[in-house]
Amino acid sequence: MMPLAIDGGAPTRRLPWPAWPPPATPEQRALVMSVVDSGHWGATSGSLCERLATAFAARHGARHGVVLANGTLALFIALRAAGVGAGDEVVIPSYTFVACATAVLLLGARPVIADVDDEHLHLTAATVEPALSGRTRAVMPVHLAGSPAPMNDLAALAAERGLATIEDAAQAHGAAYRGRPVGSLGSAGTFSFQASKAMTAGEGGLIVTDDDDLAARAWSACNVGRARGGAWYHHADVGWNLRMTELQAALLLPWLDRVDDEVAEREAVARKVERGLAAWGGPVRVVPDPRGTSTNSRHLLMLRGSAAVRWNRDWIIAALDAEGVPVDSGYPPLGSVPALDGRATALPAPATEAAAATVLWLRQPQLMAGPEGAADIVQAVRRVFGDRRARSDPRTVIR
Ligand SMILES: *Cc1c(COP(=O)(O)O)cnc(C)c1O
Repeated sequence: MMPLAIDGGAPTRRLPWPAWPPPATPEQRALVMSVVDSGHWGATSGSLCERLATAFAARHGARHGVVLANGTLALFIALRAAGVGAGDEVVIPSYTFVACATAVLLLGARPVIADVDDEHLHLTAATVEPALSGRTRAVMPVHLAGSPAPMNDLAALAAERGLATIEDAAQAHGAAYRGRPVGSLGSAGTFSFQASKAMTAGEGGLIVTDDDDLAARAWSACNVGRARGGAWYHHADVGWNLRMTELQAALLLPWLDRVDDEVAEREAVARKVERGLAAWGGPVRVVPDPRGTSTNSRHLLMLRGSAAVRWNRDWIIAALDAEGVPVDSGYPPLGSVPALDGRATALPAPATEAAAATVLWLRQPQLMAGPEGAADIVQAVRRVFGDRRARSDPRTVIR
């Protein structure tokens, strides 16, 4: 057998992966320059932020959109507009980004961290149920990696208990569940345009909702407590300046026209990797989608090693990196994050602990390198996971 790249052999892939973000298109350049030349750099005089809010909401099946500075604040403002306040509890998943918890803390509310299901790594009605108390006000399903959370059961549970459902779709631009776009399945949905996300302007956030009052409260909170169309110095409510700039909207508006093509491009690569790993029959597979998934937007591709094996993760990550296929080790269980110590309630999370020990992520640009990129991923995974050193327990026998 050929030596691995980590041992000095030839790497599986020498070509660089596509850059992220992709180079600005002529449409983006033209629109950005038109903003620069107009002098209307802010949304108080320009119109692109409003156009983006409307078009993005329409694409995601919702009646209203509110643009703002980032995805963390989108969660904070959506929760607040849904009526969450100090002393309330919000149920969030344990396998997610820390912002889900810190957005709740901004309200003076308490994050209650529930486990995810072992197979798809989502909140489910069954994992949320034990986290509910008399103080629970909202549930925050996260459409992790572009995979829609099982919203039917979650929305039913929320309706039964009178809870708001705020969908964190920061990783799921263009994803759909049972034929409906994510973001429009709960009380409100939030998106991020931070630099690593599937649509980006460096930073940015957006809330979508069908609820007229929630939309009005969210808009007001981002616009110093003004009412839409109201007097400039009339502040009926407490709010802040959380606005997005017109320059950001100019980068994002043209992107909306190509987001579906990019999702399809990544989906094709994800399927090819999935089939390649299945054909190999080794101890690694792609984390599957829950029933009801119409479109996984493939922000990340999560690979999972068999739970029967104790993996030597540091070596695997180094060996894949040497092969030219870098992977990310992913989230630690949220309940173990030091910043949340004493500030959040963490339920036991065995499924999250298992995921943290077995799941690796491929990043979105690696899913945009076509069939050759997919073949390189499969080849590198086979080489590295097929090596004895991938396992920390040499007595486990795999093929
Ligand atoms: C990126 C992200 C956020 C936060 O968005 P920012 O724009 O970076 O504030 C929240 N939740 C999830 C799941 C994310 O991936």
